[in-house]
Amino acid sequence: MALAMSSTPATRLLPQRLPKVCLALSGDTADDMLAIAESMARDNPFLEFRLDYLKQPLAALPKIHRFLETHQYVTAIATCRRADSGGKFKGSLAAQLEVLAKAHAAGCQIVDLELQSASKAKPEAIARLRSRAALILSFHDFRATRNLDETLAKMLKIPADFYKLVATAATLSDNVAMMKFLQAQSGKHALIGLCMGEQGIISRVLSVRAGSAFTFAAVSADLKTAPGQVSARDLRGIYRIDQVDAATRIYGVAGDPIEHSLSPVIMNTALRRENVNGVYLPLHAKTLKELIYCAREIPLHGLSITMPYKQAMLPYLDNSDAHTAKIGACNTVVRGQDGKLYGFNTDVAGVVRPLEQRLAIANAKVLVLGAGGAARAAVFGLKERGAEVWILNRTSAKAQKLARQAKAHTIKRADLRKLAFDVIINATPVGMGNTRDCPLKDEEIQAKVVFDMVYDPVETHLLQVARAKGIAVIPGVEMFVQQAARQFEIWTGKPAPAGDMLRAVTITLQERAAAQKQKKD
Ligand code: NAP
Repeated sequence: MALAMSSTPATRLLPQRLPKVCLALSGDTADDMLAIAESMARDNPFLEFRLDYLKQPLAALPKIHRFLETHQYVTAIATCRRADSGGKFKGSLAAQLEVLAKAHAAGCQIVDLELQSASKAKPEAIARLRSRAALILSFHDFRATRNLDETLAKMLKIPADFYKLVATAATLSDNVAMMKFLQAQSGKHALIGLCMGEQGIISRVLSVRAGSAFTFAAVSADLKTAPGQVSARDLRGIYRIDQVDAATRIYGVAGDPIEHSLSPVIMNTALRRENVNGVYLPLHAKTLKELIYCAREIPLHGLSITMPYKQAMLPYLDNSDAHTAKIGACNTVVRGQDGKLYGFNTDVAGVVRPLEQRLAIANAKVLVLGAGGAARAAVFGLKERGAEVWILNRTSAKAQKLARQAKAHTIKRADLRKLAFDVIINATPVGMGNTRDCPLKDEEIQAKVVFDMVYDPVETHLLQVARAKGIAVIPGVEMFVQQAARQFEIWTGKPAPAGDMLRAVTITLQERAAAQKQKKD
């Protein structure tokens, strides 16, 4: 993407190619801010000092000066956003301009000034500032994504080196509006654009692909300077932002809620490992209609579909595989070159693959607990492989219906001990989020293999009991990895690196468990 940055004495001092990620630094004191800068500069040589977060911005500048002198590879932005423009600085316009001019003297090569302040300042004052430092003229809309072209037209009346438009996404479609704007305008002007808010997260990755000169990252999940900001570690480690370019294919997982989905970790691991130029994003879709719009407009190459849309997705598909039609649920979508949406259900592979590594499925006697979407994938998948299947569900009518459809049996809880099963599969959420709950009593857990679809915690109570009895266990993470591996294969035509995917998801679950424990302690 061509970048129309003007050439001024100030911009000539900037690196030829600015890094794609600028780390936004906040902190209550200059020492806090600089301690973070010190620890993160090596991996993040592009820093924004949010001077408005400090009680005395001017007093911090000598320390910033010393830091920049000893870290000459750092490119620094100084921002001192006024409270009436969404920042924390309560001083006058003159005081704001003074802070920015002195921040430049302290070594910050770029200064950020809001349109509101710039419109009130004398043109000579802005010109003086810009003759020294490169100027970002910024505008933040904290309510919506609207009037982007009109706002830019207003901003262009004030000469600047970068024009930064930050909006707020209320829906996924707002990201599409921001990207279309960047695609149309970034060849003509040096732009920085993105959407704030939880719904705008995808724009923080995709805006650089659409033409934004760079994007902003948070120091960590707890240290954000704007809503929806993604940490630099995730932008680089998970989303590989440094590799994202115009040819990058976009995939995503769509659901509501989606915040805690492990799919981005696992799928981006696979894309990186197999050298696929693709990125996989969490898509918090509030409606399916909106999701379909984004799939067409972004455009998305592949989608994982999760709760609550697995069944509701069916009418939107142009075609689907036999499993999707039988099970009545779709968890994978491919958008063909013709724009048509093709549906698949890879939960079947998620059940069958781990099992066939442990025993012969044909003629195996399998007990499935539950009769929801995941149970349906297990029942149909195992019947197709010649297993004999019994279903036990809290609501027996649902078990009976599924048994009729799949030519399986139902079983009453009281009769469990009368049959010997090769495999028990838990396809209910019982046991999720704790190590107390178990869908069966200890004495009911008798089989050669126990498979728990619940994957958080990795070692559920059911698996603990089974393991203690010497029964082989399959944790839900294996299903999670295998259904994702099949998605990866459908999208890319390459074999999935299942070992790496399993490692990535296990580490993330362990990290989350440790963080939760730390919070409790
Ligand atoms: P679902 O469609 O909502 O079905 C849930 C099933 O569990 C229903 O049969 C329901 O019985 C039963 N159930 C719910 N709460 C129960 C309780 N307290 N006691 C007994 N039975 C209960 O959900 P799903 O999509 O099938 O998912 C089921 C589980 O599998 C979830 O924990 C999900 O996270 C997990 N899963 C894991 C993977 C993986 O990759 N590892 C993939 C898909 C699903 P009623 O019919 O009586 O309501």
